Amino acid sequence: MFYRPTKAYINLPALRHNLHIAKSLAPNSKVLAVIKANGYGHGICRVAQQLVGADGFGVASIDEALLLRQKGFLHRILLLEGLFSEIELPLAVQNRLDIVIHSMHQLQWLLRYQTASVINVWIKIDTGMNRLGFSTEQIPSVIKQLEENPNYFNIHLMSHLASADEESKSAIAFTQKQILSFQCATEAFDFPKSLHNSSGLQSYAASSYDWVRPGILLYGIGSTSTPFDKQAKLKTVMRLESAVIAIRWVEAGEFVGYGNDWRAPKRTCVAVIAIGYGDGYPRHAPTGTPVLVDGKRVPLIGRVSMDMITVDITEHYERIHIDSLATLWGEGLSVDEVAKFAKTISYELLCGITSRVPMVEIQ
Ligand SMILES: *Cc1c(COP(=O)(O)O)cnc(C)c1O
Repeated sequence: MFYRPTKAYINLPALRHNLHIAKSLAPNSKVLAVIKANGYGHGICRVAQQLVGADGFGVASIDEALLLRQKGFLHRILLLEGLFSEIELPLAVQNRLDIVIHSMHQLQWLLRYQTASVINVWIKIDTGMNRLGFSTEQIPSVIKQLEENPNYFNIHLMSHLASADEESKSAIAFTQKQILSFQCATEAFDFPKSLHNSSGLQSYAASSYDWVRPGILLYGIGSTSTPFDKQAKLKTVMRLESAVIAIRWVEAGEFVGYGNDWRAPKRTCVAVIAIGYGDGYPRHAPTGTPVLVDGKRVPLIGRVSMDMITVDITEHYERIHIDSLATLWGEGLSVDEVAKFAKTISYELLCGITSRVPMVEIQ
């Protein structure tokens, strides 16, 4: 029973709309919709269902991929970090999963496996992020080994941008260096290629190659370097909602919440909202983090509790009452903005919605 007012509303048409936007940014590329981490916290099957128009899905683990297969999705499904263990390989091949290889040990697994099935392999190239991938110098040899193996490998080449969402001169220079490095490492090969995540797609669309891999954009969050009000074309997918469950006046000098963290500078009307870090609302959101109550922006005050937060509604106390609607993020208050206050990123907040929060689909 969903009596507790805390809910995450998932706007399904917005997902389809955002996929459209992704396609229009790179009209000549295929779209691999990234739906790892349970669809960035929105529910992987729910999200996949709306994104059937994508050319493939990107996930982080074989169990996410198998879940999609079980639900009947016949799309290409790419394991973005490849296999974590050699024993996953037969399962991946049987289920026609696309596999990233980023390291020698993964290459060895493929080379010593025997199969009559075609395996879609995505060779990950490290172009400067220094997280995953073969060095650009290793690529010709990796390709040669795959081509000379008795198995048939359908090869793709990919890399990942580290700073495409940042606007500083040094970040732009770094991204351009990565783009150039990818181009140099791959131009001799006529395989399908893929470089862009959401921010690459938005800021460097000219280098979109054959496949783009948008994630966060599909959930309605623009490149973090784009001002909140300029992200207009995308539609917010998740609205995190709760309600006011108590209202009180505190006198100047009185404290509110754990640790006596906030002290009233003047007589203040405080509303308690039924959401907290137990729901995935960030505990580090400081005093001043905006919350929409009955459509009005009001500041969070004091510490975030497990099940509750407190906000200052002094300016609007006449219209706010028990059960007034509170929006923690959604339309009118970007999750990105809340994330900035909490010194994190929208991705972490979206993925962090906990299982006790019911998800309600908006058709
Ligand atoms: C997660 C991921 C993406 C999607 O990134 P966004 O910033 O959410 O668009 C793309 N490519 C790879 C390899 C990823 O791991």
